[in-house]
Amino acid sequence: MHRLYVKDDITVFWDSEVCRHAKQCVGGAPQVFDITRRPWIDLSRGDSAQIWQAISKCPTGALGVTYNHGITVEFDEKEQRSIATINDEVIGECDSSADENGWVIYHTHVLPEYEGKSVAKRLVYCMIEAAERRKVNITATCSYAARILNRS
Ligand code: SF4
Repeated sequence: MHRLYVKDDITVFWDSEVCRHAKQCVGGAPQVFDITRRPWIDLSRGDSAQIWQAISKCPTGALGVTYNHGITVEFDEKEQRSIATINDEVIGECDSSADENGWVIYHTHVLPEYEGKSVAKRLVYCMIEAAERRKVNITATCSYAARILNRS
């Protein structure tokens, strides 16, 4: 399971397949990371610095965090893609097609001036989460997306 959590200036990534439940995150910010709650991550309960510090202690890389840099990432249902925008300008997208086996991510692209800001990772997670929430199988021919999908 792949999930994105957004709060003001940060986005948190969580990959349940990689999580080994070592709970270092829980110890670092127990009000944010609570495995008895659903959803178990609630970014509104902590400040960004505390959340960032707690995530830095995750031993498996199941959790990740990035600054948003004013960039919004959302799923575009009509086009079956995720898009990244800033000031209404599209600066990145992750595209998928559908076949009898589910969705296939075939392309992920971010404008060069926005590289290095984890936008591509946010786009791919957004696309995967959209498929998972719809209980649609998802694979990737895009090598970047495939690395994220097949990490466990
Ligand atoms: S520290 Fe990482 S591996 Fe451990 S429970 Fe938290 S997310 Fe999972």
